[in-house]
Amino acid sequence: MSDTIERVKCLIIGSGPAGYTAAIYASRANMFPVLYQGEQPGGQLTTTNEVENFPGYKDGVTGPEMMIELQQQAERFGTDVRNGWITKVDFSGPIHKVWVNGEKEIHCDTVIISTGASAKYLGLDSEQKYLKLGGGVSACAVCDGFFYRNQEVVIVGAGDSACEEAHYLSKLCKKVTMLVRRDEFRASKIMASRVKNTENIEILFNTETEEVMGDGQVVTGVKVKNNLSGAVSDIEATGFFVAIGHKPNTDIFKGYLDLDETGYIVNAVPGTSKTNVEGVFVSGDAADHVYRQAITAAGTGCMAALDAERYLAAKDASFEVSTPQY
Ligand code: NDP
Repeated sequence: MSDTIERVKCLIIGSGPAGYTAAIYASRANMFPVLYQGEQPGGQLTTTNEVENFPGYKDGVTGPEMMIELQQQAERFGTDVRNGWITKVDFSGPIHKVWVNGEKEIHCDTVIISTGASAKYLGLDSEQKYLKLGGGVSACAVCDGFFYRNQEVVIVGAGDSACEEAHYLSKLCKKVTMLVRRDEFRASKIMASRVKNTENIEILFNTETEEVMGDGQVVTGVKVKNNLSGAVSDIEATGFFVAIGHKPNTDIFKGYLDLDETGYIVNAVPGTSKTNVEGVFVSGDAADHVYRQAITAAGTGCMAALDAERYLAAKDASFEVSTPQY
């Protein structure tokens, strides 16, 4: 083996709640995990202001603060947290190979994938501006809806997520305006009829977002255009929710792992973190298009570490000895 190749017992890819929870468990099980943080250290939560629904934080916590605490907790037990981006993998053999930043090669006994998913945004400058300011743009109604109690909000999208989130928001907000770019929903009939039958949800079909308006700090409204008539109008709103889908960050695993049609990693054994490749486990949003919460990601991170530990123990009876072999 060349000097430049490192060997690790447990490599964790990704630094959201799933990755750090896996790291806490793996380091406490003497698996000496190495965790690569990826492009957005801390994951999606670093774009969230206040997290109020994670058990244990009774007064809430900011997303970035929570991720720093999770990192420190993982490091306290010995996790080697590193900056770096996994650019390539090869899961074809018994030793799983990964490359960091296209250069460094690592050979791993186990890999825990916690690469998450990224919410899609429209890409408008005004949307990105208020997203970065934390001033009223969000891709997660369950996370942020509470901040818009008794206010008027706009949501974009026509899939199951948009319908579910619009319905969730309708219970908190005075009014929800839903912008659907075509003349029909993509969502299942039952989800679509639920929003259609909710009194405080107004659905605008054939309507696209021109601009998210604001006062420089927070959102004050949305400029929309009817794509049939060309008519432009303004909607007053303090929140702008985007629910046009997520993209799981799984491109580098194509060809090795079973992915569903939208790119989510498929659990080989339902109810576990196992993938179709032995020794490769998945946790968090990379395999979850339904729940997508920090707490569910953390839970599956724990599962992945326990599954990896059991896999190592079954493979190598000496694993329980806490000294690494290399
Ligand atoms: P989808 O891809 O199903 O829907 C995305 C929606 O966003 C579509 O209506 C699409 O419009 C719209 N959209 C995309 N880009 C734009 C844009 N630039 N401007 C305006 N609108 C845009 O994503 P979802 O997240 O809704 O769902 C993903 C998967 O998860 C689906 O399989 C869904 O069934 C599932 N899911 C299931 C749930 C449940 O069962 N409880 C809950 C949530 C999701 P258009 O239709 O015109 O393409």
